[in-house]
Amino acid sequence: MKVVTTERQLREAVAALRRRGRKVGFVPTMGYLHEGHLSLVRASRRECRTAVVSVFVNPIQFGPKEDLKSYPRDPARDLKLLRRAGADVVYLPREKGFYPDGFQTSVRVRDLQRPWCGRTRPGHFDGVATVVSVLLHRVGPDAIYMGQKDYQQAVLVGRMIEDLSFPVRLRICPIVREKDGLAMSSRNVRLSARERAKAPLLYAALKRMREAAAGGQRRTARLRGIGLEVLEAIRPEGRLEYLEIGSAVTLEPMVELGPGGRAVAAVAARFGRTRLIDNLFLGG
Ligand code: AMP
Repeated sequence: MKVVTTERQLREAVAALRRRGRKVGFVPTMGYLHEGHLSLVRASRRECRTAVVSVFVNPIQFGPKEDLKSYPRDPARDLKLLRRAGADVVYLPREKGFYPDGFQTSVRVRDLQRPWCGRTRPGHFDGVATVVSVLLHRVGPDAIYMGQKDYQQAVLVGRMIEDLSFPVRLRICPIVREKDGLAMSSRNVRLSARERAKAPLLYAALKRMREAAAGGQRRTARLRGIGLEVLEAIRPEGRLEYLEIGSAVTLEPMVELGPGGRAVAAVAARFGRTRLIDNLFLGG
């Protein structure tokens, strides 16, 4: 496993993989890795026979009041896990110098950045689209692996790849969960015991909605009501930010499930200073 910190070393390491006739799979992360991240590394190894992983807490996707400073970090542990998972190249850039001096470009995916997390995190997805663009240019992979966990992010990156002709295939991988259903997240370690006990209710609510949809309930207002009932129990530790049902392609709200295409139920809630998200396809 090669660990590189500069763009030049990164390009050289990727070129070396290519000289060995390999396709290049790429997994962007912000580190503090868990099984969810490692499942992406394994998918990349399986499909491309390589995995180039970036570990970079991207400052421009955090708002001024968000948790950039306190975001959990442990690069030594990350490297150990990546070595075990079979990563070929790890790009661990220093924060300073990642963006060139005088950097002023931003990539915005206009409509997809607006709903869901975009409402409470203005500018967040511009930061994501911009960093993914920079990383795709530096790595030049054949495929990029992202998690369904951040569904809005994955759909938005897919749109950007198509719109801007990035020659790369997006693979969206399933959400890896704890035994009690909580979606794995680097931020879970910051939950208090009481918050941690309530956090699985997010998935429980989504599952209840999916069951109702499977049972024939098509009205999204009714399905949402069913989810909200479960989510009442997150209080007082948790505070709901949103529960939405939208098109899996455009994220636009749907009145009814069915002919309009596949639907996704998505939820976000705050537990103290920790914000958690989750989502689930409703049928189809
Ligand atoms: P992050 O480090 O949080 O920016 O996540 C890096 C990548 O890992 C993103 O594509 C996430 O969607 C993905 N990811 C995070 N958590 C999970 C999970 N529990 N299951 C699957 N993928 C995940």
